Amino acid sequence: DAEREVLTWELFGTASRELAVAVAESGYRPDLILSIARGGLFVAGALGYALDVKNLHVMNVEFYTGVDQRLDMPVMLPPVPAPVDLSGARVLVADDVADTGATLKLVRDFCADHVADVRCAVVYEKPHSTVKCEYVWRHTDRWINFPWSTLPPVVQRDDQVLDA
Ligand code: 5GP
Repeated sequence: DAEREVLTWELFGTASRELAVAVAESGYRPDLILSIARGGLFVAGALGYALDVKNLHVMNVEFYTGVDQRLDMPVMLPPVPAPVDLSGARVLVADDVADTGATLKLVRDFCADHVADVRCAVVYEKPHSTVKCEYVWRHTDRWINFPWSTLPPVVQRDDQVLDA
């Protein structure tokens, strides 16, 4: 519906490529890409290939539990990257969207003590985000449907298959 911003798989290909060009043109050469699971994994994988960066790390952060349903604050879930793995590195943090910005702020602050430089790349940024990302593909204030989370899961956690 018109209230939603819809990212298709095909458009995601364009978006991630253009995001990579923006990073490269800025002269930033990340040593590693830190993806914020789960949505950031797709972005990080695409940027990793496009920027020829093989060193990818993952942080698990839980904040949203549904459309506009969120916890009081984002929480890091284990395993958390070892500071030694980030030490002195130029880091590119990759995520799907900066909405309130709370997730990226948590990750940025976590990195700040250890790394040489940390910058953020997102497909979308919302106007009220407290973190202003260095690399943004599109700005929107609408709820976004991402291709990886638009359909419901095919199984429930008790392993019952819903979809065949
Ligand atoms: P933030 O911490 O910036 O408020 O939100 C970060 C996370 O919330 C995103 O990485 C994403 O998983 C989820 N999120 C926030 N806004 C949206 C949205 O418009 N659509 C979807 N599908 N997820 C969102």
